Amino acid sequence: MAAYTPMIQQYLTVKAEYQDAFLFFRLGDFYEMFFEDAIKASQELEITLTSREGGSDERIPMCGVPHHAAHNYIEQLISKGYKVAICEQTEDPKHAKGVVRREVVQLITPGTVMEGKGLSEKENNYIAAVSSFEDGTFGFAYNDISTGESRVTILSANFDEVLNELAVLSAKEVVVASNFDEALQKKMRDRDVLAISFEDNSSIDLNFQHLLEAVNQEKLKQAVARLFNYLYRSQKRSLDHLQPVTTYQIHQYMKIDYYSKRNLELTETIRSKGKKGSLLWLLDETMTAMGGRMLKHWIDRPLISQNEIEYRQTIVDVLMNHYFERQELREKLKEVYDLERLAGRVAFGNVNARDLVQLKRSLMQTPFLKQILQGMPNEQVNKIADLLDPCEEITDLLEQAIVENPPLSLKEGNMIRDGYNKQLDQYRDASRNGKTWIAQLERDEREKTGIKSLKVGYNRVFGYYIEVTRANLHLLKEGQYERKQTLTNAERYITPDLKEKEALILQAEEKCGELEYELFTEIREMIKEQIPRLQSLAKTVSELDVLQCFAQTSEERRYVKPQFSAERLIMIKDGRHPVVEKVLNAQEYVPNDCLMDADREVLLITGPNMSGKSTYMRQIALTAILAQIGCYVPASEAVLPIFDQVFTRIGAADDLISGQSTFMVEMLEANNAIANATKNSLILFDEIGRGTSTYDGMALAQAIIEYIHTRIGAKTLFSTHYHELTVLDKELMKLKNIHVSAIEHNGKVVFLHKIKEGPADKSYGIHVAQLANLPKELINRANDILIALEQSDIQTVPAKIEVVKEPQVEKPAQLSFFDEPKEPKKQELSSKEKRVVEKMKELDILDLTPLQAINMLYELQKKLKH
Ligand code: ADP
Ligand code: MG
Repeated sequence: MAAYTPMIQQYLTVKAEYQDAFLFFRLGDFYEMFFEDAIKASQELEITLTSREGGSDERIPMCGVPHHAAHNYIEQLISKGYKVAICEQTEDPKHAKGVVRREVVQLITPGTVMEGKGLSEKENNYIAAVSSFEDGTFGFAYNDISTGESRVTILSANFDEVLNELAVLSAKEVVVASNFDEALQKKMRDRDVLAISFEDNSSIDLNFQHLLEAVNQEKLKQAVARLFNYLYRSQKRSLDHLQPVTTYQIHQYMKIDYYSKRNLELTETIRSKGKKGSLLWLLDETMTAMGGRMLKHWIDRPLISQNEIEYRQTIVDVLMNHYFERQELREKLKEVYDLERLAGRVAFGNVNARDLVQLKRSLMQTPFLKQILQGMPNEQVNKIADLLDPCEEITDLLEQAIVENPPLSLKEGNMIRDGYNKQLDQYRDASRNGKTWIAQLERDEREKTGIKSLKVGYNRVFGYYIEVTRANLHLLKEGQYERKQTLTNAERYITPDLKEKEALILQAEEKCGELEYELFTEIREMIKEQIPRLQSLAKTVSELDVLQCFAQTSEERRYVKPQFSAERLIMIKDGRHPVVEKVLNAQEYVPNDCLMDADREVLLITGPNMSGKSTYMRQIALTAILAQIGCYVPASEAVLPIFDQVFTRIGAADDLISGQSTFMVEMLEANNAIANATKNSLILFDEIGRGTSTYDGMALAQAIIEYIHTRIGAKTLFSTHYHELTVLDKELMKLKNIHVSAIEHNGKVVFLHKIKEGPADKSYGIHVAQLANLPKELINRANDILIALEQSDIQTVPAKIEVVKEPQVEKPAQLSFFDEPKEPKKQELSSKEKRVVEKMKELDILDLTPLQAINMLYELQKKLKH
């Protein structure tokens, strides 16, 4: 290291502490990167890689970005999951002896972004910390640094719970101890966590002790401490906006695991992974960014407490019935800025005067909101009005202090109003007087010289000057002014008086600028004191916004208020799939009823492809979720139980999410439902068992149905293409068949999408084949086989049916399905088959678990099929 120049040595010392981050090293107007960082950054950011002398023999790779454009580059790196350490010059180069002192002032990471594109308005940006305890359980804490919200819980030893929480929150970054299990780290990365960071300090610091008052268990405190220690260490600044930490438990909410959430497309669609087309998209009539985030939060965590749900319903009800008030409310809410994130930025010290004007305008809506709510005849709605704190002190302060249209920059002045500060007014007077003097000078000199086009101008280099065009130069007396600058068409002059005034004006302006900045900082600090009030207002406004959003959507889409049943009754009249209905257009959607009482625990749904089985099942789940977040539901009448959990599993063949998903995954997920569901859960199994051979799959499907029916008793919708399963209703008393049928209309198959009682017509496949004009002989033959199958026992194989070997009409029959030679010839195995046989020979069966065996069997069979 000794060979390097002192600056490079300084760089290397700082870099040593930030191994896992790009070090943005401030050199004048640039952030420079060196060595490995430079090479990697030049690729990631597509900027030119150069090099410089650094004292050693070889030149040092280098690349840089201008500091004023740095945020763009930082955002790019962060969105790719990198971290960026910002290293600034922390002393004035003029006073530096030797190398200027430089220090890292902030570490920006995917989970700690405060502003910019990395932060989407209507979504939280969460960072989580996971601590593993000796008893196997996990401490789980999370925070959104832009809003200051933090929560903590203990999760069971089942790591899936951790993964599930990470997915629910879409956490970008996870903080763990440096010795945290590597395999578990990998699992987290696989769940879209962008960055894993390490923090070994889990002791409570004075900085945040006061935030932990509501947290009483030692384990919980430690989990939060790890997170906060990391935040303080990386952000290196006041985090005064952090809100008191609250505890929660996952069973306080309806549990929906990661896969179910994706299958149901609650907050993003499976195909595009975007919001459009999801339940969130359908519902989002929120008017504020805060409300948008709260809505997503509510959808992610439906309630299970009937009281809490009914509270939301009450407000929605009142807002539904007061159309004009609601519209007025929406108008006012539209004017409310993101108070929550603004409070965060006040604490962080990166708000400008425009933000504060926005803050004032937002706060000025509060009295109107209060008034509208007070005008509605409902106690609970009036109570919300009481909770809305207009924060008048802040509004008054900002009204007196900040002008209506301040500039973006804090250094340009013109932010503070006249009359707010005496000293500032004096400086301004001085500057204004000087300017009046100059305007007067211009008039006087024009008169004196008779040059109408004479003007007094200003530029940064020469200050104030008198300009006379070339054509008029002859009108000036020799030596009248002192010449300063010659242009093509004009000459510029100064006079001693002009320079004297200039000095006064510039001095006054400089002082104004400094004082304005000082005053602004003071105002910001005063607002900082009020952050908790702003946060509590933000919370009330967000909730109000979501509730008006429910009312708005429910009215527009003709939803009804669901009732809750303690007897686990589902009774939905004219139910609709909320999203499909919206996408299709209300007229085309065929509403369907659903009745599941004590005698109807399991509904087995049959029907042809594209008839609407999946849509029907999802519509029931979405209706339940809408009900439990306190919204109305798409039906003309609805009674529902309060579900503790919802499970959905889509058969491998229909599984768009995992694509490559094997039958094994399907079984694991089915197991997740079977192991965790209770009587109060809702299970949707859509064509499960499809990923394996017919008999295998059918056997499993039947066993699963029997198990759920007899052992679990959860409300279950099971769609299947195994028609054979429909006889189960003879044995299983609480299982009922329903179906979606198709009809023929003008020679075309028409799907009515109407759910009916009983199993589907078994011959629909043949019917469709007939419509497709398959040969008549073939159709007749298919009908015969079908009849034979129906008469036989379902377990029997089709070989019992007599095989047609002779053409029955003149035409040769190419189509005898089960024609097998009586004495099968010895056939050569194909090379593919040989490989499979080899593989089987090699298997050590005793070394396989049953699950591995199934999976292996599946893989082998797949090889043979393809
Ligand atoms: P399946 O699962 O039986 O193959 P889907 O549920 O996927 O069928 O539905 C296929 C398509 O039919 C859907 O994309 C939707 O456009 C339409 N559909 C389903 N149910 C209805 C309905 N009740 N009313 C109108 N269209 C529907
Ligand atoms: Mg389907």
